[in-house]
Formats: sequence, C-alpha cells, structure tokens
Amino acid sequence: MTYTNQYTTVTREALLAHVQSKMSTKRFKHVLGVEKTAIALAEKYGSSEEAASIAALIHDYAKELPMSEMKSVIETAGLNPEMLNFGSEICHGPVATELAKKDFGITSEDILNAIRYHTVGAVQMSLLEKIIFVADFIEPGRSFPGVDTARAIANQDLDEAVLFEMKHTLTYLISIEARIYPETILAYNAWVTKGKKN
Ligand code: GDP
Ligand code: FE
Ligand code: FE
Repeated sequence: MTYTNQYTTVTREALLAHVQSKMSTKRFKHVLGVEKTAIALAEKYGSSEEAASIAALIHDYAKELPMSEMKSVIETAGLNPEMLNFGSEICHGPVATELAKKDFGITSEDILNAIRYHTVGAVQMSLLEKIIFVADFIEPGRSFPGVDTARAIANQDLDEAVLFEMKHTLTYLISIEARIYPETILAYNAWVTKGKKN
C-alpha cells in the first residue's frame, strides 16, 4: 500500500522500519498480522484502509518501552497517572498515541483514538477503533481458545465481535485474578447494556 500523506508525514516503508526497530521479531510479526486483518476489516466494513494500516502498525509501538520512559511520556502529556498502577499492558496504547503525534506527525483523532483504545476499548467507538480493537484480537498469529469463534463473529458483525472480545478478556482477567482497569469495566458495561453501538 502506498500512503497518500493525508494521515502521516512518513512512508509506509519508513513507518515499518521505525516500528520494527522498537520491538522483538515476534511482536513485529503480530503487528503485521494486525495490519493485514485491519485492512481486510476496513475493506469489508467500509473504512479507510490507509488509516487502518497506519493505526495497526503503530498500535503496539510503545509496548516494549521501559516503564520509566512510559511514565515520562504520561507525565509530559498530562495523561491520567492512574494508568501507571496497571503497568505497560494498560499504558502502551495511550503512550503510543503520544509517540504517533511526535514521531510520525499523526493528527487524525480517529487514528489516534484507535491506537489509544486498542487494549481496553471505550464506551463509544468509531468504526476504525472497532476495527483495530478486533484485528488485534483475531490476527492470524493469535491462538487462544475462542479465537476462531471471534474470527467468525468478526466476519458477520463487528459490534458483536467487540462485545465478544470484551467479555472474553474480562473473563480471562478475572480467572487469573488480575486487577481490572476502571475504563475496562466502563467499556464493558456500556457494550453489554446497550448491545449494538453506532
Ligand atoms: P497486545 O498488546 O497485542 O498483547 O494486546 P492488548 O493491547 O489488547 O492487551 C495487552 C494486555 O492487556 C492483554 O494481556 C490483556 O489481557 C491485558 N488487559 C486488558 N485489559 C486489562 C485490564 O483491565 N487490567 C489488566 N490488568 N490487564 C488488562
Ligand atoms: Fe497492545
Ligand atoms: Fe497488539
């Protein structure tokens, strides 16, 4: 895919090189899987494939950043410091959003929000946010019990796939007695109560 410069100041090749330099081979493979899946979902559900590619490539850009660097980004950007109590799992999306502005000149709020909310989801989600949230969960490299069900649902109804993922993640987190980030519960409550959202 050739980028139009509508969303980012860098080429896809430059973006790939930057992203690859920040993570393990395994995680980079995951990122490429998310990109492929996100582009397919964008085509299916009528969203910008270029925006899906960019958000997918950047979504885990901060995942391997040391917590000290994440903390500094969170403080500088004035993000909710509560997320620091939940470690890199919860911080890496919001931190990647800040780096996306700084390193790649991303100004599209839709792309920034898709990166920001890719782990937890949100009460209201745009089409692109749903695509990145779901693509991260079902990309070809994922192999957990339930992933094939998630893939089948994503092929039928994107909103149902978002809800399925939220239920699955919450159930898993409770089973391992992990602490639930408050935004995770808020998102789940909204999606389970209202069912289909925009
Ligand atoms: P990844 O970055 O591609 O591995 O995927 P995600 O960004 O979607 O998720 C990262 C991790 O955060 C996963 O292991 C999730 O189970 C975990 N996670 C999601 N929500 C919460 C939460 O509320 N609390 C905790 N402790 N972990 C969460
Ligand atoms: Fe992630
Ligand atoms: Fe991911």
